[in-house]
Amino acid sequence: MQVFKEKEAARRWMFQQRCAVDAIGWVPTMGALHEGHLSLVRRSVRRCQATAASIFVNPTQFAPDEDLARYPRTLESDLEMLAGCGVDAVFVPDTEEMYSSGFSTYVQPPKVALRLEGKHRPDHFRGVTTVVAKLFHVLPCTHAFFGHKDYQQACVLEHMNRELDFGVDIEVCPTVRDADGLALSSRNRYLSGDQRSRALSLIRALRQAAEQYRTGERSTAALERGMRAVLQAGGINRIDYATVVDADNLTSHSTVPEQPIALIAAHLGGTRLIDNLRLDTDSLATA
Ligand code: AMP
Repeated sequence: MQVFKEKEAARRWMFQQRCAVDAIGWVPTMGALHEGHLSLVRRSVRRCQATAASIFVNPTQFAPDEDLARYPRTLESDLEMLAGCGVDAVFVPDTEEMYSSGFSTYVQPPKVALRLEGKHRPDHFRGVTTVVAKLFHVLPCTHAFFGHKDYQQACVLEHMNRELDFGVDIEVCPTVRDADGLALSSRNRYLSGDQRSRALSLIRALRQAAEQYRTGERSTAALERGMRAVLQAGGINRIDYATVVDADNLTSHSTVPEQPIALIAAHLGGTRLIDNLRLDTDSLATA
């Protein structure tokens, strides 16, 4: 497995691969890898003849009061895991390599970024669209793999890809969960034992909404009330949102839309967790 720290070397390798194969996949990550990340990698390795991953904790998507400084960094074991999955190359730039001094060009995210996360993390998606646009240029892939776990992020990037004509085939892969239902996240390692138990309220609330939907509930307010009650009963009091929206454009309606997705963002101590569940199609909806 090749490891590149410099943009030019990574780009050269990607161009060579693009000439040699039909499909070259890219899996972007911020490291501290877990089975969720590896599921994207495995999908790319199955689908494409060559796969590149990247590990970069992108400062422009963190607000000053967020966890950039303490974000977990486990490069050595990350590289071992990626090699074990059959990744061909990894791009691991440092911040100076990605952002020259005086950097001031940003990609304005699409409208779908303004809702939900956009309300609570105002500059977050601008950092995401900017870094992914840069990485699409540095790592000119044919396919890119993102997780359903960060559902709004995947929507934002699909819009950007379409509207700015990157021409990348974007695949959104299912959320990988621990056996008890907790969605895997690099941030789970911040949780104490007690907080981890309380974090299970997220998937409980989502599953309850799915069950209510399955048995005919179509009032968005009723589903949202139900989710908040589960979260609060589970000891989660700081809830950024617990909502049901249209899975296409993330808009909210008093009657549940035809393609409903429930999304939650909530805090456990200093850790902010997000999770979501499609109410109509997700296999977990009936679990
Ligand atoms: P991150 O390193 O958190 O930026 O995540 C990198 C990619 O992995 C993103 O596309 C995430 O949506 C995806 N991802 C993170 N957690 C999971 C999970 N539990 N299941 C599937 N994909 C995930």
